[in-house]
Amino acid sequence: MIQKISHIGIAVKNLQEQIAFYRDVLQLPFLGIEEVAEQKVKVAMFQAGEVHIELLEPTQEDSPIAKFMEKKGEGIHHIAYQVDNIEEQISHLQKQSVRMIDEKPRMGAHECKIAFVHPKGTFGVLTELCQSKHD
Ligand code: ZN
Repeated sequence: MIQKISHIGIAVKNLQEQIAFYRDVLQLPFLGIEEVAEQKVKVAMFQAGEVHIELLEPTQEDSPIAKFMEKKGEGIHHIAYQVDNIEEQISHLQKQSVRMIDEKPRMGAHECKIAFVHPKGTFGVLTELCQSKHD
């Protein structure tokens, strides 16, 4: 079951420049930077109420985030929903004929199990499911 929005992922070219904006201008609490090697990104996290804002900067040219920005430029990349049981959620979507990018969960930032839904199955919105190991 979907519980709430976990985070919104935003593709950025220059993490440092945008960190200053989110931290000093929007004044959101800055939670730190994490590198997710598997996805070839550096992630800066902010707290906006219950929702995290994640700025994603590619660390390599073949990063999915770099490819995204080549086509669409900087901006909102994905919406992530927190689910209580990610395996169950994936199989629920598959039963509704929704195409998944990840048919099995993998590890994402801050020790969450994550899976991406194919944007063709969600009317163009790249959607991530994530299950925190803490709840
Ligand atoms: Zn995400």
